[in-house]
Amino acid sequence: MPWQPLRLWRSRDCFVCGESEKTLLTALSKKASGKIMSSNSFPLSNASYSSDAASTAKVVSDGAVLRSQVCEAQALGRRVGFVPTMGALHEGHASLVRAAVAECDDVIVSIFVNPTQFAPGEDFQRYPRPIDADIRLLNSLGVRWIFVPGVLELYRTGESTRVEVHGPSARWEGAMRAGHFSGVATVVLKLFMVAPANVAYFGAKDFQQTVIVRQMVADLFLPIRIVVHPTVREADGVAMSSRNVYLSPQQRVQARAFHESLCCAERLWRDGASPDLIAQTMCETLSRSQVVVDYAVVVDPETLELLETNCHVPRAVALVAGRLGQTRLIDNRELLTNDQK
Ligand code: AMP
Repeated sequence: MPWQPLRLWRSRDCFVCGESEKTLLTALSKKASGKIMSSNSFPLSNASYSSDAASTAKVVSDGAVLRSQVCEAQALGRRVGFVPTMGALHEGHASLVRAAVAECDDVIVSIFVNPTQFAPGEDFQRYPRPIDADIRLLNSLGVRWIFVPGVLELYRTGESTRVEVHGPSARWEGAMRAGHFSGVATVVLKLFMVAPANVAYFGAKDFQQTVIVRQMVADLFLPIRIVVHPTVREADGVAMSSRNVYLSPQQRVQARAFHESLCCAERLWRDGASPDLIAQTMCETLSRSQVVVDYAVVVDPETLELLETNCHVPRAVALVAGRLGQTRLIDNRELLTNDQK
């Protein structure tokens, strides 16, 4: 029977497909395991690449193999850096990889489109997977390992553990995308266990994600340092994102409103405007470009709680999220006063 994409929906705390999340993951894995598929075929395997794309970096899909090689390198005193990604790599990812290569002896980049962080109806199936191009880019950047696990490698049959980072997960992206941060925290912890690096690199582009990962690392005493690098933008200010390929030319122009709203927020912040006024202005800027706004807020960068005033607040971050057609984009900016610049 030809493979049919499964419909996911959410029941209580897990995705279900007929029976359970496990059924879904197993189904995904059966489709994916051990098969090399072309990069544009139905996107279940994360391990589909042609051998000529993998020349210098070691492409590994077996977690145990990666783990033993990482431990071996560390036993020789080598410092290992790790950049977790979902692939469809762009300059934002490359900036993290370059930083890791510059600061570490060996670098792992994982490419894994993690099913558990996609809510039902989201773009898991159509998420871009140009694996050959990704491997070529990573080879040119000098990474040592490219980890491309199949779904079953990380979500083994019978597995039943999920990581919940309460508090910062509940708001903003967490409120909009049911189960998203549980999926993120779970896969990041799994990846850290399989690839026990000394330091991991994340992008400020996903600001809330960095808060959650840091919280998890602190709460669970994970022996890994988290480094966050600034958002890389296109020349017109649009934050680079693997999802930008979904935008039509017109939507791509409209997407500038995200960055414009954040620049405007910073100007207002410096002038002493209230978080409410800033939020309202960001909303208006986005709406003028026909962005359907999910949220536009000024928050405390640690708790992610809404700020009520800009007096005596050492740090603040503006977060925006919205949709252009079917495509959902997020962006953020730390709000700095002239003194903090
Ligand atoms: P993703 O493949 O979208 O899961 O992203 C992998 C990592 O790259 C995450 O830590 C992201 O925050 C980071 N990243 C994505 N886009 C950018 C960007 N434009 N600038 C900097 N980092 C980014």
